[in-house]
Amino acid sequence: DESLLHIYNRFPVVFDYGKRTSLFDVNGKEYLDFGSGIGVMAFGYGDKEFEDAVTAQVKKLFHTSNLYYHTALADAAAAVKEASGLDKVFFTNSGAETIEGAIKTAKKYAYKKKGHAGCEIIAAQNSFHGRTVGAVAVTGNDHYREPFYPLMDGVRFGTYNDLESFKALVKDNTCAIIVETVQGEGGIRPAEKDFLVGLRKLCDEKDMLLILDEVQCGMGRCGSMYTYMQYGIKPDVLCTAKALGGGIPVGAFVVNDNVAANSLEPGDHGTTYGGNPIACAAVSASVSIIKNRNLIENVNENAPYLEKILEGFVDKYDFIQERRGRGYMQGLQLDASVPVGGIVSNALSKGLILLSAGGNVIRMLPPLISGKDEFDHMEKILDSVLQEITV
Ligand code: PLP
Repeated sequence: DESLLHIYNRFPVVFDYGKRTSLFDVNGKEYLDFGSGIGVMAFGYGDKEFEDAVTAQVKKLFHTSNLYYHTALADAAAAVKEASGLDKVFFTNSGAETIEGAIKTAKKYAYKKKGHAGCEIIAAQNSFHGRTVGAVAVTGNDHYREPFYPLMDGVRFGTYNDLESFKALVKDNTCAIIVETVQGEGGIRPAEKDFLVGLRKLCDEKDMLLILDEVQCGMGRCGSMYTYMQYGIKPDVLCTAKALGGGIPVGAFVVNDNVAANSLEPGDHGTTYGGNPIACAAVSASVSIIKNRNLIENVNENAPYLEKILEGFVDKYDFIQERRGRGYMQGLQLDASVPVGGIVSNALSKGLILLSAGGNVIRMLPPLISGKDEFDHMEKILDSVLQEITV
C-alpha cells in the first residue's frame, strides 16, 4: 500500500499459489475460487499443458512487434478464427482494447460508406465494457462515467432487452449497436432471444454493425464457445478476452469478411504488444484445452446442478430475490437491505471466493473445470454465510 496507487480496495489476503479450482494464501489456507480472477482462469490453476505451452514459447521467442509475422501468431489467429465463427482477427492486450478496436472499426466502416465522419453508436444501459475512455463512453453506468466527462461524443443508451428502446434511438448516422450477450458487471442478465435477433435484423436493415462484447461471457462460460452461438445469429464484430489467454493478458476483436474489407486499413490502428508470441501461445493453448478437454460439455452437464443449489438459496432466504444467468455465469439478486459486499467478505474469510456485480448481486464465475464437488463445497460455505444474516 505504500507503493501502490490506491485504486482498488483489495481484500486483506495475500495469495501464494493456485491448484485446480483453489487458491492458497501465504499461510497455506485454501480458498475455493468462484471468481476465476474475474472470469479468466477457465481451466483453473496449475494446468500442466497450458504452462508447458507458454513456457516453451518463452524459451523460444517472446516479442517481435507487429512489423513481422511469427509462427505463434499464425496458430493463434487460426484458432480464434475457428472458435469465433468469424473471419479476421486483431489481437489486443485487454478486453477494453477490444472495445476500442470495435468502436474504431464501426466508425471507419461508416466513414468509408458515407465519405464523412460523425457517426453515432447505440449501447445499453447497465452495460460494462471496460475502463479506457472509449469503453467508458459506451458503458451505461454513470458511476463509471461522470468524473471523466466529456467522453467520446455520439453514444446513446437503450434499455437492455427492450428492442423498441433501441429502435427509437436509430438515426441516419448510427453506425453500430454494441451490447454484451450476457451483461456481467451490470448484474448477470442474459440477452433475450427476441432482443438479440431483433438487434441483428435492425443492424441488417440499416447497414449498422452489431458488436457483441463477450469478454466475460465467452470462451465456453455460458455453454457454447461464444454465447451468441445459442441465438442463431452472428455479430459483425465479436470482442473476446479474459479466458482467451488463460491468465496471460490478451484479447481479440474478430470481424466478418465484409467488415474486414470495408473498415480498418494499414495505418488506422495498432498496438506494440498485441499478438505478442507469449500471448499467442496462451491463446492457442486455451482454445485447444477448452475444446479437447470437453469443458463446454462439462458446463452444460453440471450447470443445472449449480442452478438447483442457487434456486435452493432463493427458496430458503427471503432476502434473495432471484437467480439469473447461464452456464457457469450465475448471479443471485439480493434485496437492497443486504449489501453484497458483506457477503463476499464473509465468504472469503470462510474460504470461498465470490464476486459482486452491479445492483447488489452475488456473481459466480467458477472455473469451467468445476463440477458437483466444487458446487457442494460452495453450497456449504455460502449457506453458513447466509445463515448469519439477520434482516
Ligand atoms: N467487457 C466486459 C463485458 C467485461 O466484463 C470487461 C471486464 O470485466 C471488459 C469488457 C474489460 O476488460 P478488461 O478489464 O480486460 O479491459
